[in-house]
Amino acid sequence: MSHRISEQEMPLWYALEMNHEKEETIFDKILRREIPANVVYEDNQTFAFLDINPVNPGHVLVIPKNPSRNILDIDEKNWLALMGTVRKLARAVKEAMGADGINIDINNEPAAGQIIFYTHIHIVPRFAGDAHIIRPHKNYAEGEANKVAEKIKSRLAS
Ligand code: AMP
Repeated sequence: MSHRISEQEMPLWYALEMNHEKEETIFDKILRREIPANVVYEDNQTFAFLDINPVNPGHVLVIPKNPSRNILDIDEKNWLALMGTVRKLARAVKEAMGADGINIDINNEPAAGQIIFYTHIHIVPRFAGDAHIIRPHKNYAEGEANKVAEKIKSRLAS
C-alpha cells in the first residue's frame, strides 16, 4: 500500500531538497568549469570527475552534458550515452585502482539518497573485505512477489 506524504508530515530536510528541483546544482558549475574538479573523461555528451568524498579512492561520477534531474526524466539518447561512458570508465577505474570489483550506483530522489539533483552515476571501485555495506535485504511474504511483479508489468503495458 502506498502512502503519499502530506506537507505537514514532510520532514524539513525533505522539503528543502524538493525545492532544489529547479535550482542550479554544483554539477552544472563543475561542467562549466566554474568550480574545480578532478576531471577524468569528457566527450560530446558526457563528463566524468572524481567524487569529492569517495567510498574508495577512484570513485568517479559520470554525468550527461545535457542536464536532467535523474533517471526518471532523462531521455533515452542521453541515458544511452551515459551508459556507454560508464562502461568505458568502469574498466579504466578497476584497472587503475587495482580493484577487485566495481559497483555502479544511481540514487534517484531524496528517499533513495539523492543529494545533488543532476543525473549522475557512481562508479565505485571495491576491494575484497573493504566492508562497504551496500544494503540489507528483505523477504517477500507468501504470494507477495507475484503481485509486485504483476503491478510493475502493468505499468510497462500502459
Ligand atoms: P548522491 O547522493 O548520489 O546525490 O551523491 C552526490 C555525490 O556528489 C556525493 O557522493 C558527493 O560526495 C558528491 N559531491 C558533492 N559535491 C561534489 C563536488 N564538488 N565534487 C565532486 N563530488 C561532489
